[in-house]
Amino acid sequence: MKPSDFTSAYIGGQWVSGAKTFAVTNPATGVVIAEVADLTPADVQTAIDAAEAALPGWSATTPHERGVILRRWGQLLMSHQEDLAQLMTAEQGKPLAEARGEVATGASYIDWFAEEAKRAYGDVIPSIVAGKRYLTLRQPSGVTASITPWNFPIAMLTRKAGAAIAAGCTMVAKPADETPLCALALAKLGEEAGLPPGVFNVVTTTDAAGAGKALCDSPVVRVLSFTGSTAVGKLLYRQCAGTVKKLGLELGGNAPVLVFDDADLDKAVAGVIAAKFRNAGQTCICANRVFVQTGIYDAFAAKLAEAASKLTVGPGVKAGVAIGPLINQDALEKVERLVGDAVGHGAKALTGGSAHPLGGLFYEPTVLTDVVAPMGVLKEEIFGPVAPLIRFETEAQGIAMANDSTVGLAGYVFTRDIGRTFRVVEALQCGIVAVNDGLPTVAAAPFGGVKESGLGREGGHQGLEEYLDTKYVCIGIG
Ligand code: ADP
Repeated sequence: MKPSDFTSAYIGGQWVSGAKTFAVTNPATGVVIAEVADLTPADVQTAIDAAEAALPGWSATTPHERGVILRRWGQLLMSHQEDLAQLMTAEQGKPLAEARGEVATGASYIDWFAEEAKRAYGDVIPSIVAGKRYLTLRQPSGVTASITPWNFPIAMLTRKAGAAIAAGCTMVAKPADETPLCALALAKLGEEAGLPPGVFNVVTTTDAAGAGKALCDSPVVRVLSFTGSTAVGKLLYRQCAGTVKKLGLELGGNAPVLVFDDADLDKAVAGVIAAKFRNAGQTCICANRVFVQTGIYDAFAAKLAEAASKLTVGPGVKAGVAIGPLINQDALEKVERLVGDAVGHGAKALTGGSAHPLGGLFYEPTVLTDVVAPMGVLKEEIFGPVAPLIRFETEAQGIAMANDSTVGLAGYVFTRDIGRTFRVVEALQCGIVAVNDGLPTVAAAPFGGVKESGLGREGGHQGLEEYLDTKYVCIGIG
């Protein structure tokens, strides 16, 4: 699997080239690694037609039949784990160890849903009228669409496609144009696993707005699942009103961390390192605002800075690298702007604080202290390797500061007090809370947010629900 193997989009079981192509660049080197078909909205419509044509056959298969193909698909991901990881690091930049981990996570979603679809039970409802019986059926919602970001090019897609396809739906997938190669590799392995033509289609394009409009406007597409920015999520929400689609939205996070005085200091440091610096800080559940209680603040800051300064920055293919490049120049400029603003308003960089001497898109792992409320670093998702530390005094104040956000995806708590654990877990306005842990995501558990972080859940049994409709059946028997 080389980047140059994936130049065509995948529609209706055919590899199709577009009238134009676009370049995919390795963010670690700036080198163009592939030219990929740049499809038009009309091509996206062709993919919707293909998904529609495939729907009757696929939705009529049993969950067991679908499970056999899906499990094979997941196994193929694992037998190509190294190839896929290399491909991912080439287009996305993350260290190879993380890329390998993401391939495994991606496969685990497919595997999870291959099993879970067998348990899409309906209900038999006790009758309250003599001579009538009530029951519910769980049926595939129909043709679905996904729009996915560049930060997890495999896992974000398999947790949508795995669920949809297991449920008996078909899908048109639009990957980010920064990272189309992994999505096309998934399609190739899906084909090998035995997915019939049209069940999983991948449309590659730089016309995200045009493709998005085609998917939203189509009355055939019944579910749209999106992971990406809050701004685009809101646009898609509006655009889907016309056809009253079911929407899954996984939007921005601005995740709070609360480190209490009674926390295990080393565990808290390790947890924040994992939650902050994975993928160079480019995940939607990355620790974005680290609130530290005043009694432990200085010790925590010193230890975190020491640990962060030891993270090796460099190209993801190099052994020992923990932090790869940022995805593009805009991302680098945003991080520079936010750190510049914070330092300009009195924050101090205990470590890092500037672009890495390697140049290009590399940024130093950074720990900022003395961060206070008006700084932009607390309002915007940083999406870079920067940990801003904010001091708090009481539990109530910490919770209030953590909840002072329009979004609520993940939150993290470090404490050894069981009573406090429950109080804080219940009070945090987040869809996901990790206690004494920095890596909560797993296929078996529901992932998703509250407030403006989105709608719906991915993973767990809840992830399948997004692609199923409930049909209520009333039967007169008298
Ligand atoms: P990010 O800042 O992470 O790139 P985006 O929300 O811009 O977040 O991108 C996430 C996904 O949404 C990508 O696949 C991107 O191509 C797509 N996208 C961007 N703009 C639009 C749009 N107007 N309509 C539909 N999809 C879009």
